[in-house]
Amino acid sequence: MRDILQEKQKLNRIFQDISNSCKNCNQCCFTYGWLLPSEIENYDSVVDINDCVYCLDSFEKNSQGERILEKIPRCKYYGKNECQIHKMKPFDCVLYPVKVLYNTKSKSFLAVLSLDCPYIESLSITRRKALLKKLEQYFDKMDFNLRQEYFEMVKQWALITEPKNFRYSIIKEFNSNG
Ligand code: SF4
Ligand code: SF4
Repeated sequence: MRDILQEKQKLNRIFQDISNSCKNCNQCCFTYGWLLPSEIENYDSVVDINDCVYCLDSFEKNSQGERILEKIPRCKYYGKNECQIHKMKPFDCVLYPVKVLYNTKSKSFLAVLSLDCPYIESLSITRRKALLKKLEQYFDKMDFNLRQEYFEMVKQWALITEPKNFRYSIIKEFNSNG
């Protein structure tokens, strides 16, 4: 049985310097809050979109009380300039500023580091290169089943959402099997 907690701890160690940048940032947590199927039971209000992907229910509602799915919401757990469920963050949140992108044409995955994150932008070229190397090693050693589950989630959300434009550096490319 894989241990998501252990994987989160590894990522927290890699990004141990990020918290000071996050305190004054206010850029994060505009997100659907995607959840792995194995994480759903940890949250009390989960939305199932198209019977294939799950996310936190942070959606705004229209005058009929229906969720506005087209608008990316600010996460319901964001408050006082930070995440209010720090230890219970979904894996997708812990991974940020790393994102995994799915290419629907080549059916491949790309792990990338977002350059739109002010912390990443503040790093020298040398420190950024060292971080990219560490992240490549992280993906190489990541629990295989968790990687499969996460990549499948990425694929499913890529099939139902428009890709977001952002600047990034490539960590590693993976074929269709992850
Ligand atoms: S964008 Fe980067 S620095 Fe800002 S809150 Fe998110 S992770 Fe932290
Ligand atoms: S769970 Fe926390 S880290 Fe994740 S989007 Fe919500 S507030 Fe942000």
